[in-house]
Amino acid sequence: VADTPAKMLALGEEGIIPYIASIGLFRTKAKNLVAAARILVEQYGGEVPLEREALQGLPGVGRKTASVVLNELGVEPAIAVDTHVFRVAHRLGLARGKTPDQVEHELMAAIPDPWRTRAHHWLILHGRYVCLARRPRCGDCAVADLCPSKAGSA
Ligand code: SF4
Repeated sequence: VADTPAKMLALGEEGIIPYIASIGLFRTKAKNLVAAARILVEQYGGEVPLEREALQGLPGVGRKTASVVLNELGVEPAIAVDTHVFRVAHRLGLARGKTPDQVEHELMAAIPDPWRTRAHHWLILHGRYVCLARRPRCGDCAVADLCPSKAGSA
């Protein structure tokens, strides 16, 4: 229903809400979508700028979202660090940083170039389905032999 910023702007907050009401913080997100669409129309000719600084200048867009967009569109490899990536990176000993930015930096250094684009998905899916927050399924884990946090290890 809104495949351009101009159409998103025309929908307005109340028009967007029914489509996103099942997700968390949908009112704030609807508000940010309209505000971002307005900036895109007024300042960027209705196109989404594919530069990190410009993206992060849009309402509701932080480093993580900008990384997802840039990575998925093949503009630059980036590892968006969400709660799953953060946890799995620590358990596997790939990172020790205390903030998402530090962990991102460590992962970018640890993961070789050819795998960076996909590493983001692998880490998220591993965290969502195997290396669960409360009860990691170490018995079903394909990388248990490499993991210093495996259940039962010292
Ligand atoms: S062995 Fe356990 S803690 Fe380590 S990555 Fe696998 S599921 Fe996570």
